[in-house]
Amino acid sequence: MTNTTMGSLQQVQKLDERIAELEEAMRDFESRLAEIEEPALALESELGSLEKRLEEMRADTRRLDRNADDKRARIEKLEERLNKVQNLREEAAVRTELDLVRKAVDADEQEALQLMGETQRAEMEAEELREKAEAARAEVEPAQEALLAERRELEEELEALEARRQKLLDEVGDQERRVYDSFHNSGRSVVVAPLLDDGACGHCFGVVPLQVQNEIRHSSTVIRCEACGVILSADLAAENEEEEAEDESGEE
Ligand SMILES: [Zn+2]
Repeated sequence: MTNTTMGSLQQVQKLDERIAELEEAMRDFESRLAEIEEPALALESELGSLEKRLEEMRADTRRLDRNADDKRARIEKLEERLNKVQNLREEAAVRTELDLVRKAVDADEQEALQLMGETQRAEMEAEELREKAEAARAEVEPAQEALLAERRELEEELEALEARRQKLLDEVGDQERRVYDSFHNSGRSVVVAPLLDDGACGHCFGVVPLQVQNEIRHSSTVIRCEACGVILSADLAAENEEEEAEDESGEE
Protein backbone atom coordinates (compact mmCIF):
# COMPACT_ATOMS: atom_id res chain seq x y z
CA MET A 1 0.00 0.00 0.00
CA THR A 2 1.19 3.50 -0.76
CA ASN A 3 1.49 6.14 1.92
CA THR A 4 -1.28 8.20 0.33
CA THR A 5 -3.55 5.19 0.36
CA MET A 6 -2.78 4.55 4.01
CA GLY A 7 -3.37 8.22 4.78
CA SER A 8 -6.71 8.10 2.98
CA LEU A 9 -7.73 4.96 4.84
CA GLN A 10 -6.78 6.59 8.12
CA GLN A 11 -8.98 9.55 7.23
CA VAL A 12 -11.81 7.17 6.40
CA GLN A 13 -11.21 5.56 9.79
CA LYS A 14 -11.54 8.96 11.52
CA LEU A 15 -14.73 9.67 9.57
CA ASP A 16 -16.08 6.28 10.61
CA GLU A 17 -15.44 7.09 14.27
CA ARG A 18 -17.42 10.33 13.94
CA ILE A 19 -20.13 8.54 11.92
CA ALA A 20 -20.47 5.95 14.70
CA GLU A 21 -20.82 8.75 17.30
CA LEU A 22 -23.49 10.48 15.20
CA GLU A 23 -25.41 7.25 14.66
CA GLU A 24 -25.36 6.65 18.41
CA ALA A 25 -26.69 10.18 19.00
CA MET A 26 -29.41 9.60 16.38
CA ARG A 27 -30.57 6.50 18.23
CA ASP A 28 -31.04 8.55 21.42
CA PHE A 29 -33.46 11.00 19.82
CA GLU A 30 -36.66 8.97 20.13
CA SER A 31 -36.26 8.57 23.89
CA ARG A 32 -35.19 12.22 24.25
CA LEU A 33 -38.33 13.31 22.37
CA ALA A 34 -40.47 11.19 24.71
CA GLU A 35 -38.63 12.50 27.79
CA ILE A 36 -39.53 16.10 26.92
CA GLU A 37 -43.23 15.26 27.16
CA GLU A 38 -42.96 13.44 30.50
CA PRO A 39 -43.46 16.40 32.92
CA ALA A 40 -46.58 17.53 31.02
CA LEU A 41 -47.98 13.99 30.95
CA ALA A 42 -47.37 13.55 34.71
CA LEU A 43 -49.16 16.83 35.56
CA GLU A 44 -52.04 16.01 33.20
CA SER A 45 -52.47 12.62 34.80
CA GLU A 46 -52.43 14.14 38.31
CA LEU A 47 -54.99 16.72 37.21
CA GLY A 48 -57.16 13.96 35.73
CA SER A 49 -57.24 12.08 39.06
CA LEU A 50 -58.05 15.25 40.99
CA GLU A 51 -60.88 16.15 38.60
CA LYS A 52 -62.31 12.68 39.01
CA ARG A 53 -62.20 13.09 42.79
CA LEU A 54 -63.91 16.50 42.45
CA GLU A 55 -66.70 14.89 40.40
CA GLU A 56 -67.24 12.38 43.20
CA MET A 57 -67.30 15.16 45.81
CA ARG A 58 -69.90 17.09 43.81
CA ALA A 59 -72.03 13.94 43.51
CA ASP A 60 -71.76 13.47 47.31
CA THR A 61 -72.85 17.09 47.81
CA ARG A 62 -75.92 16.59 45.57
CA ARG A 63 -76.81 13.40 47.47
CA LEU A 64 -76.54 15.20 50.83
CA ASP A 65 -78.71 18.06 49.53
CA ARG A 66 -81.42 15.63 48.40
CA ASN A 67 -81.36 13.85 51.79
CA ALA A 68 -81.65 17.15 53.65
CA ASP A 69 -84.61 18.20 51.46
CA ASP A 70 -86.35 14.88 52.19
CA LYS A 71 -85.79 15.31 55.92
CA ARG A 72 -87.03 18.91 55.92
CA ALA A 73 -90.21 17.77 54.15
CA ARG A 74 -90.53 15.10 56.86
CA ILE A 75 -90.14 17.77 59.58
CA GLU A 76 -92.94 19.86 58.01
CA LYS A 77 -95.28 16.84 58.04
CA LEU A 78 -94.41 16.03 61.65
CA GLU A 79 -95.04 19.66 62.67
CA GLU A 80 -98.48 19.50 61.03
CA ARG A 81 -99.20 16.26 62.86
CA LEU A 82 -98.17 17.87 66.13
CA ASN A 83 -101.10 20.30 65.71
CA LYS A 84 -103.53 17.39 65.29
CA VAL A 85 -102.43 15.03 68.07
CA GLN A 86 -105.24 13.55 70.16
CA ASN A 87 -103.39 12.77 73.40
CA LEU A 88 -100.09 13.23 75.25
CA ARG A 89 -98.77 9.79 74.30
CA GLU A 90 -99.21 10.56 70.59
CA GLU A 91 -97.64 14.02 71.05
CA ALA A 92 -94.59 12.52 72.82
CA ALA A 93 -94.10 10.05 69.95
CA VAL A 94 -94.23 12.81 67.31
CA ARG A 95 -91.86 15.02 69.33
CA THR A 96 -89.38 12.13 69.67
CA GLU A 97 -89.36 11.54 65.92
CA LEU A 98 -89.09 15.29 65.24
CA ASP A 99 -86.04 15.44 67.48
CA LEU A 100 -84.41 12.55 65.68
CA VAL A 101 -85.03 14.00 62.22
CA ARG A 102 -83.80 17.47 63.27
CA LYS A 103 -80.58 15.92 64.64
CA ALA A 104 -80.15 14.02 61.36
CA VAL A 105 -80.61 17.26 59.39
CA ASP A 106 -77.98 18.93 61.61
CA ALA A 107 -75.55 16.07 60.96
CA ASP A 108 -76.22 16.29 57.20
CA GLU A 109 -75.59 20.04 57.26
CA GLN A 110 -72.29 19.56 59.14
CA GLU A 111 -71.22 16.95 56.59
CA ALA A 112 -72.26 19.20 53.70
CA LEU A 113 -70.28 22.10 55.19
CA GLN A 114 -67.16 19.98 55.60
CA LEU A 115 -67.53 18.62 52.07
CA MET A 116 -67.93 22.15 50.73
CA GLY A 117 -64.64 23.15 52.36
CA GLU A 118 -62.86 20.11 50.93
CA THR A 119 -64.35 20.76 47.50
CA GLN A 120 -63.15 24.37 47.52
CA ARG A 121 -59.63 23.33 48.49
CA ALA A 122 -59.61 20.65 45.77
CA GLU A 123 -60.88 23.17 43.21
CA MET A 124 -58.05 25.57 44.07
CA GLU A 125 -55.55 22.74 43.86
CA ALA A 126 -56.99 21.71 40.49
CA GLU A 127 -56.74 25.28 39.22
CA GLU A 128 -53.06 25.44 40.16
CA LEU A 129 -52.40 22.06 38.61
CA ARG A 130 -54.21 23.07 35.44
CA GLU A 131 -51.98 26.15 35.08
CA LYS A 132 -48.85 24.08 35.67
CA ALA A 133 -49.98 21.40 33.22
CA GLU A 134 -50.78 24.00 30.56
CA ALA A 135 -47.40 25.68 31.06
CA ALA A 136 -45.61 22.32 30.83
CA ARG A 137 -47.61 21.38 27.73
CA ALA A 138 -46.76 24.72 26.10
CA GLU A 139 -43.05 23.98 26.54
CA VAL A 140 -43.25 20.56 24.91
CA GLU A 141 -43.66 21.61 21.32
CA PRO A 142 -40.83 24.21 21.12
CA ALA A 143 -38.49 21.84 22.96
CA GLN A 144 -39.37 19.00 20.59
CA GLU A 145 -38.97 21.35 17.62
CA ALA A 146 -35.49 22.31 18.88
CA LEU A 147 -34.60 18.65 19.25
CA LEU A 148 -35.87 17.84 15.75
CA ALA A 149 -33.79 20.73 14.38
CA GLU A 150 -30.77 19.28 16.20
CA ARG A 151 -31.51 15.90 14.63
CA ARG A 152 -31.74 17.45 11.15
CA GLU A 153 -28.31 19.03 11.71
CA LEU A 154 -26.86 15.66 12.70
CA GLU A 155 -28.45 14.08 9.63
CA GLU A 156 -26.86 16.73 7.41
CA GLU A 157 -23.46 16.22 9.05
CA LEU A 158 -23.85 12.47 8.60
CA GLU A 159 -24.67 12.88 4.92
CA ALA A 160 -21.64 15.12 4.43
CA LEU A 161 -19.39 12.64 6.23
CA GLU A 162 -20.75 9.72 4.20
CA ALA A 163 -20.08 11.65 1.01
CA ARG A 164 -16.49 12.47 2.07
CA ARG A 165 -15.98 8.86 3.11
CA GLN A 166 -17.22 7.62 -0.27
CA LYS A 167 -14.99 10.09 -2.13
CA LEU A 168 -11.90 8.97 -0.18
CA LEU A 169 -12.70 5.31 -0.79
CA ASP A 170 -13.29 5.96 -4.49
CA GLU A 171 -9.75 7.33 -4.72
CA VAL A 172 -8.00 4.32 -3.15
CA GLY A 173 -7.59 1.06 -5.02
CA ASP A 174 -10.26 -1.65 -5.14
CA GLN A 175 -8.14 -4.06 -3.13
CA GLU A 176 -7.48 -1.56 -0.33
CA ARG A 177 -11.13 -0.57 -0.24
CA ARG A 178 -12.15 -4.21 0.07
CA VAL A 179 -9.67 -4.80 2.90
CA TYR A 180 -10.83 -1.69 4.72
CA ASP A 181 -14.52 -2.51 4.26
CA SER A 182 -14.17 -6.10 5.38
CA PHE A 183 -12.32 -4.99 8.54
CA HIS A 184 -14.75 -2.17 9.20
CA ASN A 185 -17.84 -4.29 8.56
CA SER A 186 -16.59 -6.90 11.01
CA GLY A 187 -16.93 -4.25 13.71
CA ARG A 188 -13.35 -2.98 14.04
CA SER A 189 -13.12 0.72 14.76
CA VAL A 190 -9.38 0.80 14.07
CA VAL A 191 -8.30 -0.65 10.73
CA VAL A 192 -5.04 1.18 10.02
CA ALA A 193 -2.39 2.34 12.46
CA PRO A 194 1.11 3.78 12.19
CA LEU A 195 4.23 1.72 12.82
CA LEU A 196 5.87 3.80 15.55
CA ASP A 197 9.53 4.90 15.38
CA ASP A 198 10.46 2.46 18.17
CA GLY A 199 8.98 -0.41 16.15
CA ALA A 200 5.75 -0.76 18.12
CA CYS A 201 2.25 -1.08 16.67
CA GLY A 202 0.49 2.32 16.92
CA HIS A 203 -2.72 0.62 18.01
CA CYS A 204 -1.84 -2.12 20.50
CA PHE A 205 1.77 -1.00 21.15
CA GLY A 206 3.00 -4.57 20.73
CA VAL A 207 6.53 -4.70 19.35
CA VAL A 208 6.65 -5.66 15.68
CA PRO A 209 9.50 -8.05 14.73
CA LEU A 210 12.41 -6.30 12.95
CA GLN A 211 11.97 -8.35 9.79
CA VAL A 212 8.30 -7.32 9.59
CA GLN A 213 9.21 -3.68 10.37
CA ASN A 214 11.53 -3.71 7.36
CA GLU A 215 8.82 -5.13 5.13
CA ILE A 216 6.41 -2.45 6.30
CA ARG A 217 8.96 0.27 5.66
CA HIS A 218 10.03 -0.92 2.24
CA SER A 219 7.30 -2.98 0.56
CA SER A 220 3.88 -2.00 -0.70
CA THR A 221 1.98 -5.11 0.44
CA VAL A 222 -0.65 -5.07 3.14
CA ILE A 223 1.00 -6.05 6.43
CA ARG A 224 -0.99 -6.56 9.58
CA CYS A 225 0.06 -6.39 13.23
CA GLU A 226 0.37 -9.97 14.45
CA ALA A 227 -1.02 -9.03 17.85
CA CYS A 228 -4.09 -6.91 17.05
CA GLY A 229 -4.59 -7.27 13.30
CA VAL A 230 -4.51 -3.62 12.20
CA ILE A 231 -2.83 -2.72 8.90
CA LEU A 232 0.48 -1.06 9.75
CA SER A 233 2.08 1.79 7.84
CA ALA A 234 5.48 3.34 8.47
CA ASP A 235 4.58 6.89 7.43
CA LEU A 236 1.18 7.38 8.98
CA ALA A 237 2.33 8.91 12.26
CA ALA A 238 4.18 11.78 10.62
CA GLU A 239 1.38 12.45 8.11
CA ASN A 240 -1.16 12.33 10.87
CA GLU A 241 0.55 14.83 13.16
CA GLU A 242 0.96 17.32 10.35
CA GLU A 243 -2.65 16.95 9.42
CA GLU A 244 -3.84 17.49 12.97
CA ALA A 245 -1.65 20.58 13.32
CA GLU A 246 -3.26 21.96 10.16
CA ASP A 247 -6.73 21.12 11.48
CA GLU A 248 -6.09 22.98 14.71
CA SER A 249 -4.70 26.12 13.07
CA GLY A 250 -7.57 26.02 10.59
CA GLU A 251 -10.15 25.95 13.34
CA GLU A 252 -8.76 28.93 15.26
ZN1 LIG B 1 -1.14 -4.14 17.06
